[in-house]
Amino acid sequence: MSATLERPRIRLLPDATIDRIAAGEVIERPAAALRELVENALDAGARRIVASITGGGITAIEVTDDGGGMSGPELALAVRRHATSKLADDDLVRIATLGFRGEALASIGAAARLAITSRRPGGEAASITVTGGVVSDVRPAAGAPGTRVLVEDLFFATPARRKFLKSTRSEADAAQLAVRRLALAAPGVAFRFSNDGETLFDRPGEPLAQRVAALLAPQAAIAFDEERDGVRVHGFAAPPAAARATAAGQLLCVNGRPVADPVLRTAVRVAYRDVIAAGRHAVVALLIEIDPESIDVNVHPAKAEVRFRDAEAVRGLVIGALRRALAGGARPLGPPVPMGSRSFLPRPATLVPPREPAVEVVRPGFAEARLSFAAAPAARSIEAVPPAAEHPLGAAVAQVLDTYIVAVAADGGLVLVDQHAAHERLTHESMAEQFRAGGVISQPLLLPAVVDLPEGQAASLLERAEAFARLGLEIEPFGRGAVLVRALPALLGATDPAPLLRDLADEIAAWGEGLALDARLDAAIARMACHGSIRAGRRLAGAEMDALLRRMEATPRAATCSHGRPTFLKFSRSDLEKMFGRQ
Ligand code: ADP
Ligand code: MG
Repeated sequence: MSATLERPRIRLLPDATIDRIAAGEVIERPAAALRELVENALDAGARRIVASITGGGITAIEVTDDGGGMSGPELALAVRRHATSKLADDDLVRIATLGFRGEALASIGAAARLAITSRRPGGEAASITVTGGVVSDVRPAAGAPGTRVLVEDLFFATPARRKFLKSTRSEADAAQLAVRRLALAAPGVAFRFSNDGETLFDRPGEPLAQRVAALLAPQAAIAFDEERDGVRVHGFAAPPAAARATAAGQLLCVNGRPVADPVLRTAVRVAYRDVIAAGRHAVVALLIEIDPESIDVNVHPAKAEVRFRDAEAVRGLVIGALRRALAGGARPLGPPVPMGSRSFLPRPATLVPPREPAVEVVRPGFAEARLSFAAAPAARSIEAVPPAAEHPLGAAVAQVLDTYIVAVAADGGLVLVDQHAAHERLTHESMAEQFRAGGVISQPLLLPAVVDLPEGQAASLLERAEAFARLGLEIEPFGRGAVLVRALPALLGATDPAPLLRDLADEIAAWGEGLALDARLDAAIARMACHGSIRAGRRLAGAEMDALLRRMEATPRAATCSHGRPTFLKFSRSDLEKMFGRQ
């Protein structure tokens, strides 16, 4: 065969190419480079870290720390691949530092222009540069003890990666989120972060509670701290009303390392499942301290996940701790402080009211039997009008957990309705209908509200102001990062505009770059409808429940909510008989 005469098709790649390939895995975007640098500063024992980015981190990233620093010879090693001071033993079993692979500086150096100046306490300062993989000599330099790392022109040497970057704004947002998470994971360390010359946060070393309040959950969050079999789970759980459209408000941390771990994410979702709508994300700071031998941190190129030896136990502990925190501390919640909203709108009618006693009995006949369930979850029965045959969803007879309506149909069937899901669908359908008829009817605010948002989010909303106006939401620019809200869709009632805008911005961010609102109209309407809807946890009068059932009967697509979950379940007499084995 002639193939034997050809040059071998398989070749060993040159080191520079190997480095660039690896760089793509470790440093996927500016946020990842920034994270690696801040992690190095933390590993070096810094007490104060100053980080800044320019042009979304693509133009420049700079991180200065007052940690242990590096000597000249150490600098020369630090920028080489697989050179690390952090693995004492080579079996990867006990990893107590954030870094351990010795890849970050080499990867950044392969993809960008890297300059490091460092000084050990009592030693001389030295500097080194790496430009697209080309390493300079170590030179004497001037500088305070600690390390200053400057990265410029990220991905200039790896154009393939550069092509996949999002807008400067999204990269800046991602970078900010990364530093924010590390700052939350190490509250004792002072942190300053700025973007394009503007300081976004500047915190002294402080207790976790203060850091969480400043950087994650301005609404009073509930502290928890539990330990079982040597695993400690602690942190802060924000009330359900603070839930957001994405997981950006979640800090999940294992032994000081922020992770995006699926086991922990699921545990948080399960813990909050009964109190927030599906598709929403709780705001929590969840920190786990566990014997390093009980986890494997070497399972993800960017170290974003860990593997727990006993994932079930950790999951159980997290769910339990969060649930207990929510049950114990969530009682007198009241409406959250409308974060970032500077107007004095009437209080939204859709927030969770203070909880009342667990069981309330309205119909005298039930009194005796119920009372024996003093600790049962909230359920109350109401005086029901006899169900009429033309109403397939029947007549409301009770509300359970302040969330589900129990109704009885004329044919004796049992109907369970999720009040939030149902109302959300009705609001969604009405808005869609108004839109089709020429535009969603808007209600001007007596006092226009000013909502402060991260700059990127404000801009992405304002870019779509015209489309939003057709959805009844009138917004205008109001200076850097601020949006003026002039009118809301009338159907939403007295909704707090700040969480609404934040959610819409999160929703748009999830679509990816530059997508026009018109392409995702239904999603935008769904997001809005969620805000104007009766929340789970709101007590309804009998007449309100019946009115909801009647509207559901008259509304197309009423059987599923905007997120595709069912709004009601119906059990016929024969379903019930089957379930009880009578048939
Ligand atoms: P890793 O953190 O996995 O060891 P890096 O490439 O990030 O790999 O860093 C290589 C080495 O350089 C580290 O092990 C550490 O010894 C040194 N180093 C990096 N950044 C700093 C810093 N800010 N202060 C002190 N030493 C540092
Ligand atoms: Mg590192």
